[in-house]
Amino acid sequence: MKKMAIIGAGVSGLTVNRLLNNKYKITVFERETTPGGLIRCKNVENSLFHLCGGHVFNTKRADVMSFFEQIFNLNRDFIKTERNSTVFFENGEVTNPEKHSMFVHRTSWVEGVPYPIENHVYMLKQQLQDSFIADVLKMQRSYHRRKPQNFEEFLKWNFGKTLYDLYFKPYNEKIWRTNLKKIPVDWLEGKLPMPSMSQILYNNFNHVKENDIVHSTFWYEREGGSQYIADKLAENADIRYNTNINSIEKTSDGWTFNGEKFDIVVFCGNIKDLPQTLKCKQIEPFANDIDHLQSHGTTSVFCEIDRNPYTWIYLPSQKYRAHRIICTGNFSSANNRVKRLSATVEFTDYVDKDEILENLKNMPLNPQYLTHEYTKYTYPIQSGNTRAMIAGLKDILAKQKFYMTGRFTDWEYYNMDNAMGAAKDMIERWKL
Ligand SMILES: Cc1cc2nc3c(=O)[nH]c(=O)nc-3n(C[C@H](O)[C@H](O)[C@H](O)COP(=O)(O)OP(=O)(O)OC[C@H]3O[C@@H](n4cnc5c(N)ncnc54)[C@H](O)[C@@H]3O)c2cc1C
Repeated sequence: MKKMAIIGAGVSGLTVNRLLNNKYKITVFERETTPGGLIRCKNVENSLFHLCGGHVFNTKRADVMSFFEQIFNLNRDFIKTERNSTVFFENGEVTNPEKHSMFVHRTSWVEGVPYPIENHVYMLKQQLQDSFIADVLKMQRSYHRRKPQNFEEFLKWNFGKTLYDLYFKPYNEKIWRTNLKKIPVDWLEGKLPMPSMSQILYNNFNHVKENDIVHSTFWYEREGGSQYIADKLAENADIRYNTNINSIEKTSDGWTFNGEKFDIVVFCGNIKDLPQTLKCKQIEPFANDIDHLQSHGTTSVFCEIDRNPYTWIYLPSQKYRAHRIICTGNFSSANNRVKRLSATVEFTDYVDKDEILENLKNMPLNPQYLTHEYTKYTYPIQSGNTRAMIAGLKDILAKQKFYMTGRFTDWEYYNMDNAMGAAKDMIERWKL
């Protein structure tokens, strides 16, 4: 049997291991002490803290679903939940407030408009509705022939200026922390809902809720959150934890590192590490482009908040830096052993504890700090040539039996299912 090394025990590396462990003698190398990468969780106050995000599972790919169902018993070990997301407004943007979820936080009203906001324009106050109607009429007249070139154009041209100014701009600027004109859109295709204006109008007339986006329903683990997925995927795998691979040598017939020789390597770590790690000349022409790849990190703050019925709460308000609350205590009762409700408040990039505490004071639902975690690489940002550059590198290294797949290897905005799908595609493409 040929020897294969997989670097990284996140969803991608663990999927490759699952799919190929009958064919190769596989060793997985992981720098952390537990499997899962971005989907790792730990217990805090007997409640479940997702160290990053609040991972839920679903997929539109039949082959990925079938892979998942071969490993997991969905009906026994998972709960199927309907997404119940809301956008909080704090400046009287909502009409008929008595009909909608609202409460007083300190001195102002907080009002929730269900997500996605474009389906619920009829809930906004009259002036915003009029302005939205004017946008629609204007959009009809000035039909755009070219494709939007950046994220701002994409949002304005699809949803109109009113919704852009009210929600899409402030919310997305908090996440991406940059002018939305600077974000290209091509790579977000398929990852963002792209309703037509006629769909939006139909949904408003008929009060249709979201039903077509990836996580409008999702599977969530009864116990252990996404750590359950990682642990189960890692069962029976030969994983060397606490092992950071930072030097890989090319030999005449394979690769050597950590004192061992391998015929094949599958790299599922971060492409930014490759120029320093990989001792082979093929990587050199790519080093500069790789160095320029951009990304964001996330500070996840585990809190106890007031009880509420939501799964995700979006926060466009400029009064604080956090952009979303993930009510993980509502995902499974096993997650929630605090008195009120356990949840994660999410900030883009690094935020220190003092700033976190200052921000929490201004936020709705009275969050009380429990702990926090900063993850440096969470959101990859592509530029125009990123995909072609990485595809070129992959082709060259594959000839040396060095393969690559993963969110930060491909620099793609993968969900767990896309990461599993990409791992499968890589195996099929190179007939591993
Ligand atoms: C905030 C946030 C929320 C999300 N929410 C969802 C969600 O609800 N549903 C969903 O499906 N997806 C979600 N995702 C996406 C999901 O997290 C990823 O698709 C998936 O976890 C990517 O797995 P990966 O294995 O490609 O990468 P990673 O999880 O980054 O795994 C890489 C692994 O490699 C290890 N490693 C790296 N370099 C080395 C090295 N040199 N030596 C040894 N080990 C190394 C790392 O320690 C890590 O364990 C979310 C992502 C974020 C950031």
